[in-house]
Amino acid sequence: MGEFDGKTVLVTGGGSGIGLATADLLLSAGARVVIAGRRPERLEDAAGELRAGDRLLPVVADVADPAAVDRLLSTVLARFGVLHGLFANAGIARFGPAASVSEQDYDTLMNTNFRGVFQTVQKAMPMLAHDASVVLNGSWLVHRGLATTPLYAAGKAAVVNLARSLAGDLGARGIRINAISPGFIVTDMFTGIASSAQEQEASRLQVPLGRLGTPADVAQAAMFLLSPRSSYITGQELLVDGGLIGSV
Ligand code: NDP
Repeated sequence: MGEFDGKTVLVTGGGSGIGLATADLLLSAGARVVIAGRRPERLEDAAGELRAGDRLLPVVADVADPAAVDRLLSTVLARFGVLHGLFANAGIARFGPAASVSEQDYDTLMNTNFRGVFQTVQKAMPMLAHDASVVLNGSWLVHRGLATTPLYAAGKAAVVNLARSLAGDLGARGIRINAISPGFIVTDMFTGIASSAQEQEASRLQVPLGRLGTPADVAQAAMFLLSPRSSYITGQELLVDGGLIGSV
């Protein structure tokens, strides 16, 4: 018996990195999993890696596009009827000081990282089961004021606040919502920002645990919050950062 037997969970950004690692653990625990992302080839590769047969449903969807989110959720509804878990994980990075942020950067970042999360949760609400759990993906940068990440950090702060703000609304139906905030996790996003060995080493040296995080480190935390093991936890943020924030 798996902890997620008979449960359906939607993971946005499930075709790579943290989302893919979470989809993998969910499938191992018996769940039916929907992974969503913009790039079909990325979802195909993920499906090939996960080899979960009809318990896995890859759906091409851009979470920044309200009509695409509607189509995604209609597809989930038609196939599975109800959602027991939602991991609103899809996100992008746009770093640089405020003066360098173009209007297009602003719209692209905020439409993906905040609007995408907001409208995925908002539109999924009617199809959440009475004991469902929602997890949002924030960032350690919510807790730092770096001149180089004002837009990304502010968008992620809004995401973390959303978990707090919706806890009452969803709690009335027995549904929990929390955020996880990863530190330095080795994924395409991280290596796209810290591309050299020196940059990665500089990140590692800031982490009390002395290593960069893996997608599985974050996936384990997401699994805990999605599962009944966290049955009395809602409106919270869980840092999964190897001690990074606690130490500065
Ligand atoms: P990845 O780049 O591997 O994952 C991001 C995923 O989101 C991709 O699968 C991407 O697929 C998907 N995605 C991006 N934009 C959209 C969109 N508009 N609609 C649907 N899917 C989208 O990196 P991570 O796994 O690291 O990132 C996962 C989350 O973790 C992000 O929210 C990120 O901000 C957060 N995070 C990561 C940290 C790290 O160090 N890695 C640190 C703190 C937070 P596709 O391009 O095909 O759409």
